[in-house]
Amino acid sequence: MSRVLELTRELTARPSLTPDDAGCQRLISERLLPLGFSVEWFLCGEVSNVLFTRGRGSPSLWFLGHTDVVPPGPEELWTFLPFHPDEKGGELYGRGVADMKGAVAAMTVALETYVQQQPDHAGEIGLLLTSDEEGEAVDGIVRVAQELERRGRRPDHCLVGEPSSLQTLGDTVRVGRRGSVYVRLQVYGIQGHTAFPENLDNPVHRIAPFLADLVGLEWDTGDAEFPASHCQIAYVHAGTGAGNVTPAHIELLANFRNGPGSPIESIRSRFEELLRQHEISDFDIEWDIMGEPFRSEPGKLREAVVGAVGEVLGVTPELNTGGGTSDGRYIAPLGSEVVELGLINSTIHQVDERTPVADLDRLFATYYDIIRRILT
Ligand SMILES: [Zn+2]
Repeated sequence: MSRVLELTRELTARPSLTPDDAGCQRLISERLLPLGFSVEWFLCGEVSNVLFTRGRGSPSLWFLGHTDVVPPGPEELWTFLPFHPDEKGGELYGRGVADMKGAVAAMTVALETYVQQQPDHAGEIGLLLTSDEEGEAVDGIVRVAQELERRGRRPDHCLVGEPSSLQTLGDTVRVGRRGSVYVRLQVYGIQGHTAFPENLDNPVHRIAPFLADLVGLEWDTGDAEFPASHCQIAYVHAGTGAGNVTPAHIELLANFRNGPGSPIESIRSRFEELLRQHEISDFDIEWDIMGEPFRSEPGKLREAVVGAVGEVLGVTPELNTGGGTSDGRYIAPLGSEVVELGLINSTIHQVDERTPVADLDRLFATYYDIIRRILT
């Protein structure tokens, strides 16, 4: 069995539901420490973060990944039990194989192989892992990044192993990510009898024209790498359930996915300005910022990734900023070049998450080639 497949299976067999690492990082440390890597643990609450590095100075390349997984959902719907990885039709099934234990295994084996072949390599290589990517992400890489910033420490280049590929391995590489922010709005009125409109103030009627304007707003037009920023209403609730009673308040939850053309501060002020225009003044509002957008300017890592994907996988990748947020958002502000390349994402977070077995070794070979291109 290939080393990458074997390690992927070992990691997948550990039910590391966020924030539980379930010993995954310990397993990796047992492999990297004998090869001369230093280790630093950042334990925050229930979350385990760990940084392995070897060598020093420039150029420096760190891999970034997570060992936690999302819940498997109903086990009876799975072809194999979610934490008993198994193969069928050339694919490996199991919770986390694609997001992203396969990539963590490929990174680990790429680092092992590189230092075995180049024990006196130039610069620094590293691997940064968290067990809090899929959850609240409050004690994960954000905390490590704060500590790194305090020390003035960062990698020149950071390769994130999130599953970026769509149909074939390497077809998509992420060179940034959109931001994400939630707004929860509660608008108050006066509850009353539907037969006596003069005695009530219906918050649904108040908010309806506001909502029409909100969803029609053009936030920006996007650019070559970022689609236009947009707002999606995720939840609306009002009323008592009785047909002759108007609601006392209405609650709304919306999510913005934004590009650099609309930083969160500008979304916030435009949203609140729109409330004023509609003379909505009796309300509570709460903003929950998940992350600002980031973009990685073209650099040595982008060049190495595109070169390696072309040479090893025979693919010319599309460079974009699609998908949700990733932990790259915490490393990019340190000044590192951040690029994301990982397995095919078509089954992530689903029942029967799976990945082509052959892609594990192909991803390893690509990561290895990226290290070689950056360090030599
Ligand atoms: Zn992930």
